[in-house]
Amino acid sequence: MDGLPAVPDGTFTQTGLDFDAIVIGAGVSGLYQLYKLRELGLKVRVIEAGTGVGGTWYWNRYPGARFDSESWTYGYSFSQELLEEWDWEEHFAGQPETERYLNYVADKFDLRRDIQFRSRVTAAHYQEGTRGWDIILEDGRRYTTRFLITAVGVLSAATMPRIPGVETFKGQSCHTHYWPKEPVRFEGKRVAVIGTGATGVQTITEVAKTVGHLTVFQRTPQWCAPLHNAKIGKAEMSRIRPNYPEIFARCQETYGCFIHATDPRATDEVTEEERDAFWEKLYAEPGFGIWMGNFRDILVDRKANALISDFVARKIRQRVKDPAVAEKLIPKNHGFGTRRVPLESGYYEVYNQPNVKLVDINENPIERITPNGIQTSDREYEFDIIIYATGFDAITGAFDRIDMRGVDGVSLKEKWQDGPQTFLGILVDGFPNMLMVMGPHAGLGNFPRAVEYTADWVTGLIRFAHDRGVTRIEATAAGAVAWTDHVIEASEGLLFTEVDSWMTGINRNVEGKQVRRIMRYSGGHPKFRERCDTVAAVGYRELSLA
Ligand SMILES: Cc1cc2nc3c(=O)[nH]c(=O)nc-3n(C[C@H](O)[C@H](O)[C@H](O)COP(=O)(O)OP(=O)(O)OC[C@H]3O[C@@H](n4cnc5c(N)ncnc54)[C@H](O)[C@@H]3O)c2cc1C
Repeated sequence: MDGLPAVPDGTFTQTGLDFDAIVIGAGVSGLYQLYKLRELGLKVRVIEAGTGVGGTWYWNRYPGARFDSESWTYGYSFSQELLEEWDWEEHFAGQPETERYLNYVADKFDLRRDIQFRSRVTAAHYQEGTRGWDIILEDGRRYTTRFLITAVGVLSAATMPRIPGVETFKGQSCHTHYWPKEPVRFEGKRVAVIGTGATGVQTITEVAKTVGHLTVFQRTPQWCAPLHNAKIGKAEMSRIRPNYPEIFARCQETYGCFIHATDPRATDEVTEEERDAFWEKLYAEPGFGIWMGNFRDILVDRKANALISDFVARKIRQRVKDPAVAEKLIPKNHGFGTRRVPLESGYYEVYNQPNVKLVDINENPIERITPNGIQTSDREYEFDIIIYATGFDAITGAFDRIDMRGVDGVSLKEKWQDGPQTFLGILVDGFPNMLMVMGPHAGLGNFPRAVEYTADWVTGLIRFAHDRGVTRIEATAAGAVAWTDHVIEASEGLLFTEVDSWMTGINRNVEGKQVRRIMRYSGGHPKFRERCDTVAAVGYRELSLA
C-alpha cells in the first residue's frame, strides 16, 4: 500500500466502505480537494498515477515549460500563512518552481500521507447496493468509496500523432508531457519538434538556444504574443504580498479569473491611431492582456477580429527576417484569440537562426517516422532526437481513459459520445456520488482560482449531505439538459466555436474527436459562480438527494 496506513475501522459516515471519498489526481485540484475533505473529517484517499504531486507541473518537464498565468495570481489563496511564506521567483514561474511550490504545499499541510502514488485508476463502477463506487487500479487493487471525486485534469491525457513508424526510430523520442526527469542535452544534436501549439512554442524557443540543428514540423501556426517574463526580487515580492486581497478579488471579477479584464470599448469606438496605440501597449505588456484585456468585440466580431489579427501578423512580419517563413508562421485558418494564445519569449526570432528550419507539413506531409528520422512527401530528414509536442486529448480525455460506469452499468464515455452532458460541470445524471473538479462544462480560466471555488462547492455539498444523512447525490436528467443547453447557448456567437481546436473537442490524433463540441462554459466565471451559489443557497433542491 505504498507505505500508507491501513484503512481505519470507523469512518465519518459509518458506511462500511473503505473510504468516504476517493479523489483521482494529485494536481492543483486534487491537493486542494484533499485538504478540504480532511477538514470535514472525511476519510479520503487521493490516487495518483505519477510518483509525485503537482499534476501538470509534475509531468510537463519539457524545456521552457512555464506559466502563462502571473505566478502571484496562480498560487492558492486559502492559507494566509502559505501566502506569507512563499516567495515567487518569477512573474511567470517555470515548471521547476511550480513543482517546488506544490510540493511545499503538500508538505506544509501534510497531504502526502493520504496520497497513493504510482497508482492508475482504470475503472470506476457505481454500485446501487452500497451507494458507493468500486475503484479498480491498473495493478488489480480495488477500493470502495462513498464519493468519487475526479480531479483528473483537462490537459493530462497526452496524445501521440498517428504517424506510422514511431516505434522504429533509433534515436531518442520524447513527448513533452512525459519528459524524462534527467536533463536532455541538445548541444550538437539534430533535433525535430513536431507540433507548434502552446507547448511546442515554449519547447522550440528553449531548445533553439543550445541545439546543433532544429527542424520544426508545423501543421497549424498559432497567434503567439510576447510573455515579457521577469524575475521577482525580494523587494518586489514584499510589494506584491500586501496586495494579495486585491489581486484575488480582481481575479474573482474577471471573465477567466485572470487579472486581465476585458476593455469595455468596442474596436470601432476609437480612432485607428488610438486602437494601434492600445494594441502596441498590450503587445508590450506581460501576460494575457492582449487576449483577455482587449476590446470587448475582438472574439465575437469578425471585423474586429480581422483587425487585431492584422496587427499581430504585422508584428510577426517585423520579427521574422525571411518573408516566406513569416508568411508560414501567420495563421490563415483562424483569427487571433480563437485558439488558446501561446505566450512566447523570443519564439519568432528562433526562425532567424541559421540552424533552424521550418517545415510546413501541409505542403510536405509527414509520411512516416523512420529508424533515422522523419520521411516527408519530398525527403527524409535525419535526427538524433524527435520531440512530440502533440498535446492532449483535452478535457474529456482523462475520463475516457477510465472505464467509468454509472447506474445500470452505463458507460460515461458512451454517454458523452456526442459531447459532454453535465450539471454545472460538476455532476452527471446517472452517475450518483461522482463529483468533478474542473470537469467539462465547468468554468475554466486561471486554474487555481476556479479550482478553489469548485472544490469548496463540492465540499459544501458533501457537508450538506452528511448533516442530513443523505447518501446518494445525483444530478437530475432535466438539470443536466438545462445546464448543457445553457453552456451551448453561452458559446453562441463566439468565434472560437468556428475553429478546430482542443477547446472545441477536436484532436485529429484521437478516434471519435473529429466533430466540434462545446467542451467548456463560456459564460465567464462570475456567472458560473452565481449559478452554483444559487443551487447551494436553496438547499441543492435541483439535485436528487436520498
Ligand atoms: C504545459 C501546460 C501549461 C499550463 N499553464 C497554465 C497556466 O499558465 N495557467 C493556468 O491557469 N493553467 C495552465 N495550465 C492548465 C493546468 O493544467 C492547470 O493550471 C492545473 O495544473 C490543472 O490542475 P488539475 O489538478 O486540475 O489537473 P492536472 O494538473 O492535470 O492533474 C491531474 C492529475 O490526475 C492524474 N490522473 C489522471 N487520470 C488518472 C487516473 N486514471 N489514475 C490516476 N491518476 C490520474 C494525473 O496523473 C495528474 O497528475 C497548463 C497546462 C499545461 C499542460
